[in-house]
Amino acid sequence: MKRAICHYCLALWLPLWPLVSPAAAETTSTRQVLRQDDRQLEVLISKQYAPAMRENLLQWADYIAGALDRVYGHWPDRRWQISVVPAAAASASDPIPWAQVHRGEVNRVEFFVAASASPDDLRRAWTGYHELAHLLIPYRGWGDAWFSEGLASYYQNVLQARVGLISEDQMWQKLYDGFQRGLAEKRFDGMPLGAVSEKLRDEGGFMRVYWSGAWYFLAADTRLRLQSGGRQNLDMALQKLNQCCADKRLSVPEIVEQLDKLNKVVLFGTLYREVAESTSVPPFAGIFASMGIDVRDGEIYLQEQGPGARLRRDIARDPTQAAPIGANPRSAL
Ligand SMILES: [Zn+2]
Repeated sequence: MKRAICHYCLALWLPLWPLVSPAAAETTSTRQVLRQDDRQLEVLISKQYAPAMRENLLQWADYIAGALDRVYGHWPDRRWQISVVPAAAASASDPIPWAQVHRGEVNRVEFFVAASASPDDLRRAWTGYHELAHLLIPYRGWGDAWFSEGLASYYQNVLQARVGLISEDQMWQKLYDGFQRGLAEKRFDGMPLGAVSEKLRDEGGFMRVYWSGAWYFLAADTRLRLQSGGRQNLDMALQKLNQCCADKRLSVPEIVEQLDKLNKVVLFGTLYREVAESTSVPPFAGIFASMGIDVRDGEIYLQEQGPGARLRRDIARDPTQAAPIGANPRSAL
């Protein structure tokens, strides 16, 4: 099952892949530029796709790029790329069997997509949101993979809720199900997360690593919201990092140090050490209770009333209050 072996981001450990130059890419791909104020996204789509499919893929790239707006109100990078090439082993239920982030002077997210995927299949594929969420931090691309994968695993669900693709209930159910998958993978229980994460490529442990990482970001987000009565949150904390350091390439210890400093909190560093040393997916029942989430027989139920419920609803709400996707399409040149 795709979710059980999340191998999409292994290339994150391969440092500084080269930028695809427009001249080289245009021999095999079409190139379109989507603009957002002074930011630009180049979309490179393989000419192996039929023209109608290329149009579907461009619209999909625009859609998921629009979802990525729903954290800072703008893309994390001033200039970035999405490239799309045909996938050999795709199916209707799995339209994007592979994707990876190439970090370099210009970050590029590369998707391998089925030649016949429908626009609806593409929009519903979580991989698109996951990969783009990696760009929210100026990560150097290697080390502490659990942190980078946790960020993407948390935000892939948050972004889908914020664009209205899934409901708030579904978002929490997906997070709950993810934590359960992480807990069910017991092979490395007792071993610190940092050590499991280091050997991920060779020995596996994807669910433990990804969902322990997602726990980190859920814990950080909810603590910020609860301690500030909703005036602080993870989006805002990460945006400060984006403002200062988007052009840098930072290790995870450098990222958490910056996050604490920029946000004047003692949270990200201590939580980083706590989670890196954790020996299984940390317990989430307390977090869920504080956010007004009940769990019965594996199903989540959201409380309507109470301070936690208000703070919880804000997580799924678009913080930029932008127009619905599609209402104000960007220019494609
Ligand atoms: Zn990933």
